[in-house]
Amino acid sequence: MGYTLNRQQADALLAALRKDYTVYAPKRFRNQGRYSDTDIIRYAEVERFEDIVWQTKSDYPAKEVLTPIQQAIFYFTEDEYRESKGPRKPILILARPCDINAQHVQARIYAGNGGYTDLYYERMRELVKFAMMECGGGDDTCFCVSMGTNKTDDYSLAMKFSDDGVQVQVTDGAFAPYFGDLPQADYTPAFVEENELKVTVPDLDDKEVRKALKSHPMWQEFNARCISCGACTVACSTCTCFTTRDVIYGDNPEVGERRRVTSSCQIAGFDQMAGQREFRSTAADRMRYKVLHKFHDYKARFGDSHMCVGCGRCTHRCPELISISATVNKVSAAVDEIKAGLAKQ
Ligand code: SF4
Ligand code: SF4
Repeated sequence: MGYTLNRQQADALLAALRKDYTVYAPKRFRNQGRYSDTDIIRYAEVERFEDIVWQTKSDYPAKEVLTPIQQAIFYFTEDEYRESKGPRKPILILARPCDINAQHVQARIYAGNGGYTDLYYERMRELVKFAMMECGGGDDTCFCVSMGTNKTDDYSLAMKFSDDGVQVQVTDGAFAPYFGDLPQADYTPAFVEENELKVTVPDLDDKEVRKALKSHPMWQEFNARCISCGACTVACSTCTCFTTRDVIYGDNPEVGERRRVTSSCQIAGFDQMAGQREFRSTAADRMRYKVLHKFHDYKARFGDSHMCVGCGRCTHRCPELISISATVNKVSAAVDEIKAGLAKQ
């Protein structure tokens, strides 16, 4: 069923939905951007139609609703602890197709991976339904079409925003009562069919090729350019690395809470083990790990898709202007070169 709502009707719909759902959408935060006098757009609870930023891609992804940058996992006193409580109210997230597909990736990692389900992710995910925001084409860092994440049918509502209001398609009967007497009109969502940017995903099935790629000189560039800040992975729609921190409430170090805090495989020391051992001690090593995880290892493990959804947020956030799409295209060229070399042997 489809509807066309003007701004007042859209506001009334949002107010009705908010009685039963916490509604999250991309929202603008004035003067909180990376540079002075710039804004940041990130997911937050929205109260009015005009709060919803539909015109441009958010700087940070929808994962921040399900896995906040920091969250209490348990509280402790001297001789006991109590698990933190998750939200009880159902959640509706307005998200573009790439962000919805990113949650399929995160669910693979958090739920049932290796026989273990992450309680903190699962208790959020169970509450979440998606309203798919039709994407107007993204920006010059997007390559969702190359990654096959430009489409989805995993949504309860589809929405196409304009300055005048919103067109809505209802696919989940649980939402039908919110539309009552609102004006019906046919609406079928459209998906982005082409991005300006195209990425060639390397074919890394051959173990000999992967071995040669590991020592390819292309990675050395990142020792000079990447400052290992981790901004790319914090902004990534699918990255899941975290660490834990204890927050002590007062003078007694035995009373406080343990928090899960977003971290990054790109930060030096993230993989440090007992005896000061590290698997990846240079920026080049860490970049290779990240890129191959996104464009080979995840798919080799789970089989259905690559981990990267082509949202381009990592490129957008990198202070050193390192582009994921240019990097992956360089990997593809290196792989072609390696294959040609191996064929001659
Ligand atoms: S690696 Fe970059 S383009 Fe891919 S999902 Fe993460 S942020 Fe988006
Ligand atoms: S690629 Fe860019 S954002 Fe990522 S760690 Fe390196 S410098 Fe930071």
